[in-house]
Amino acid sequence: MAAGVTACTAREEWKREAQRTDIAMGTIVRQNIYLTGEKDVTNGQEVQIVADIIGLITDLEEELLSHRLETSEIYRLNRQAGQKTEISPELARILEEAGKVSEASEGAFDITIGKVTELWDIDKWSTAEETTDYRIPEEEELERALADSGYEKILLEGAWITLPTGMKLDLGAVGKGIACDKAAEYLESREDVIGAVLSVGGSILVYGSKPDGSPWKVGVMHPREEGQYLGSLQLLGTWYVSTSGDYERYVEVEGVRYHHILDPADGYPADSGVVSVTILSESGLLSDALSTACFVLGVEKGLELAEAFQAQALIVDEQGGLHMTEGMYSYFEFSEAAVFAAPKSLYCEPPKTI
Ligand code: AMP
Ligand code: MG
Repeated sequence: MAAGVTACTAREEWKREAQRTDIAMGTIVRQNIYLTGEKDVTNGQEVQIVADIIGLITDLEEELLSHRLETSEIYRLNRQAGQKTEISPELARILEEAGKVSEASEGAFDITIGKVTELWDIDKWSTAEETTDYRIPEEEELERALADSGYEKILLEGAWITLPTGMKLDLGAVGKGIACDKAAEYLESREDVIGAVLSVGGSILVYGSKPDGSPWKVGVMHPREEGQYLGSLQLLGTWYVSTSGDYERYVEVEGVRYHHILDPADGYPADSGVVSVTILSESGLLSDALSTACFVLGVEKGLELAEAFQAQALIVDEQGGLHMTEGMYSYFEFSEAAVFAAPKSLYCEPPKTI
């Protein structure tokens, strides 16, 4: 009874909404926040909360995660490869978590392939770019860059880390998820927030509850039909959803698509038969790391990896087939519209009955 009354009161109290869209971390950041209390004339608090969150995200990029900006800890650490270096507790925790996914995926996920991503020049690709003067890295160059990579070569002892000489870290596969974690931490500290949706590129946070009490709906994009959705995840409470797809960032050279998710086994874009992976998790970092890892691993091993981390996965293969962990069936609602828009080869495995 008491719980029901509280929920009802919270819904009635909802009066204010804050919205903002920015470019940060090289992608689009969208915020929608639902707040309690009366609207003030100047919208001061609404403006402040979204400004605070985008501030947190840009600080995270500039001070901690970027491998391109001289101001960041990762940039400095990469410069110190070969020497024992003290790192912040926050970075130590991130590297430890990322290391767990590297181990469990047997290196399919590996943030130490910075030299390889640099050779492909991924940072300079805009989405869906057709180019004629792009130089594909030579096999020997990739082999040399891979020789400087390998998560198992990092020595992490508490606050101290030693990267082998020549190694470069690239946290591009987890940064957006970490940004969602940071935002959730901040929202938690605010008493006036009922619910929020934040998207940082392909990583999404849904937080708290929707003012009308209905589930959040997170669309899963059709990997081959722009603007179409395969369906949506129906979520109550706080969740993190990350998608990695070969359509997100790529260059096309003479009709061949080179995308941004690389297989650390050979340094080439992963060719695992998968075109997109969506992960649902209770951690932003994990959802982001796992979406990249599962893309490299392919359908079977990908589903197993997600389950090993108590996460749910939805994988689209290159024939248009949909594969899900068992738990995902209770969150995913298939969109009829998507089937009509793409009748080609989309099919859905029948849900397993319990
Ligand atoms: P995401 O879009 O989250 O899948 O992350 C892809 C980004 O992570 C790329 O742009 C690279 O910077 C980096 N990356 C590519 N392949 C891998 C990999 N196998 N393991 C870790 N990071 C990767
Ligand atoms: Mg990722």
